[in-house]
Amino acid sequence: MADPVLAEMVHAMGLTEAPHYAAVKPTIQAYRRRWVELAPYRDGPVDPERKPVDDPAAMTQRIKAKAVELGGSMVGVCRLQPHMIDLGEDVPHEFVIACCVAEDYEKVMQGADAVEEEAMRTYAKCTEIANELAAYIRAKGYPARAHHNGGSEVQAIPIFHQVGFGELGRHGSLINEKYGASFRPGFVTTDLPLVEDQPREFGVQDFCMNCNVCQLNCPGDAIPQDHVMTHGIKRWLIDLEKCYPYSRLRNEYCHLCVDVCPYNVKSHPETYKAFMKQRKQVGYKTPKTS
Ligand code: SF4
Ligand code: SF4
Repeated sequence: MADPVLAEMVHAMGLTEAPHYAAVKPTIQAYRRRWVELAPYRDGPVDPERKPVDDPAAMTQRIKAKAVELGGSMVGVCRLQPHMIDLGEDVPHEFVIACCVAEDYEKVMQGADAVEEEAMRTYAKCTEIANELAAYIRAKGYPARAHHNGGSEVQAIPIFHQVGFGELGRHGSLINEKYGASFRPGFVTTDLPLVEDQPREFGVQDFCMNCNVCQLNCPGDAIPQDHVMTHGIKRWLIDLEKCYPYSRLRNEYCHLCVDVCPYNVKSHPETYKAFMKQRKQVGYKTPKTS
């Protein structure tokens, strides 16, 4: 188990696997199998006949168009920096391409299982896109490796921020102005010459200072009031020991902090209003026990 906090909690319960992972539905298991099946194809041989790139800006547009054609909702590029690479890993590439698939927010009205199934569908789709995009780049004669749920050596949040997808919210996920935090990622690291995108701010962190909707709805009281500063960026540190009893150590998935965030209203105004009405009726902090 890659997450040491979760591993310790599962061990303390006398188990070998988090109950949530052991209990998931067959459709969800099928999506998970997809990224396991595709894991061996994250990397591969590079075409020995390298095609020169005279115009990195045009190549960047071509790569982004390809990612969208494959099913991506947002694509961004930045230089791969040391803090974006997992500790102890070596990724010898110059750039990272982030490609995200937006979740269908309408699923929130169908309950936790539907929300989880949609999350796993988008993760599986990101796996396919990242693998295909990496293969497309290798066919041009440049090294490229996909990073996704089937295997990854990169950190999502600092890359999301650097490619300009959005800003970190109080609930610990990155918020995009169009999709909220309802999207899932895949990445490709490469030496293909590309042009970087830039971080963007559009008021999320200021908004979070005066919004507590995710806190109010978190059944584990895991979302803090206070933030810390890291490289000039506000970070609200989620208390994982309080979150996991709801999100990992029960049979049912918890994704409430992301689903109740008002940044979902732009893409799904009516569904957001209906969902929040439902949340109010059940008293926000559901489920109340693990
Ligand atoms: S996943 Fe659930 S328990 Fe964890 S922080 Fe979000 S709302 Fe709270
Ligand atoms: S619910 Fe409010 S406080 Fe929480 S992340 Fe969204 S905007 Fe920020």
